[in-house]
Amino acid sequence: MPTRKVDYLLIGGGLASANCARWLREEGAEGDVLLIGREPDPPYNRPECSKGYLRGEESREDTYFRPNDFWDQQSIELLTRTSVTALDLQGRTVTLSNKEEIEFEQALIATGANVRRLNVDGCQLDQIHYLRALGNADAIRAGAQDAEEVVLIGGSFIACEVAASLTALGKSCTLAALEQAPLELSFGASVGRFFKEQLESIGVMFHPGEALERFEGEERVRGGHAERAGARR
Ligand SMILES: Cc1cc2nc3c(=O)[nH]c(=O)nc-3n(C[C@H](O)[C@H](O)[C@H](O)COP(=O)(O)OP(=O)(O)OC[C@H]3O[C@@H](n4cnc5c(N)ncnc54)[C@H](O)[C@@H]3O)c2cc1C
Repeated sequence: MPTRKVDYLLIGGGLASANCARWLREEGAEGDVLLIGREPDPPYNRPECSKGYLRGEESREDTYFRPNDFWDQQSIELLTRTSVTALDLQGRTVTLSNKEEIEFEQALIATGANVRRLNVDGCQLDQIHYLRALGNADAIRAGAQDAEEVVLIGGSFIACEVAASLTALGKSCTLAALEQAPLELSFGASVGRFFKEQLESIGVMFHPGEALERFEGEERVRGGHAERAGARR
């Protein structure tokens, strides 16, 4: 049996849910608004994970969508560290990871995206990172502190941004991608060449046309092997 009922249930703790909550209030919605997210932080600007926050130029609070008192002021209930584990559309109820069951009038599903993990040999080695959340950015910055060289796998926005950010922190970065040029998939070959030159001008080495076959190392990752060129790094 549901323990309570809310008018608006927003599932997911990202910018889509946060903006929905904000606009409900700005447009005059008066009912209960409950936003549920599984991350430890309130909604934040995820783009900063590869930019100012990663470089240590912005604090955690700087990345927050709104200051902490915003939610109370707007009478928006925020449940962090909580997952929606079941959704019953007919009964209009959700079950939460804390076992609470909540009935809703209307719901938004804004659960966003997850990282796509590389399932290759060595993928469990220490100091292999993925970037999606503030906690990942913390781990990357901490790991980079005693790393001389950083290899980034991927040829699109996030890899390019992280390469630029870590270069700014004094790290030597190499970027390996399936594409012939960074951001080529989004913008085409000539724009890709422009970005390749931009990255190279700040010292980032770009390896085109390479699919990672495996990571190598004992406990900590020390290198990898790429499929097409067969080059060891
Ligand atoms: C490193 C990085 C840099 C980026 N830079 C830019 C940029 O410069 N410009 C730009 O336009 N975009 C950028 N993006 C993309 C942008 O962040 C996303 O488009 C945006 O975050 C999407 O917001 P969202 O709310 O739809 O989803 P998400 O941000 O993915 O949020 C969804 C939330 O729902 C939570 N969730 C999932 N399932 C459940 C569940 N069952 N119960 C409770 N909670 C759940 C997730 O944990 C997550 O917190 C970047 C993304 C990343 C990762």
